[in-house]
Amino acid sequence: MRNKAKCAHCGADITLIQISPNKTVLCDLNPILYRADDNGDISVIDIRGYKAKASKVTPYKESHTLDGQSIGYMLHKVNCPNFKGKRK
Ligand SMILES: [Zn+2]
Repeated sequence: MRNKAKCAHCGADITLIQISPNKTVLCDLNPILYRADDNGDISVIDIRGYKAKASKVTPYKESHTLDGQSIGYMLHKVNCPNFKGKRK
């Protein structure tokens, strides 16, 4: 399940993705393509609603062939300009 929202920290448009009945994660608005890699160091949220790891992501464009890659989203907190250092 996906909903649009605005980030409370920076005001950017973001996507909310529900990954379990009581857990929703904030992701960047635009989807990415990734190849699942358990040894990767990039956390992504698959469009189907679960966490995955990747070593490389590329912006998703509708014209792309998937070629074994999956569609997902980057966690917004990784890219949010105001998120880091705001924790009390
Ligand atoms: Zn933000």
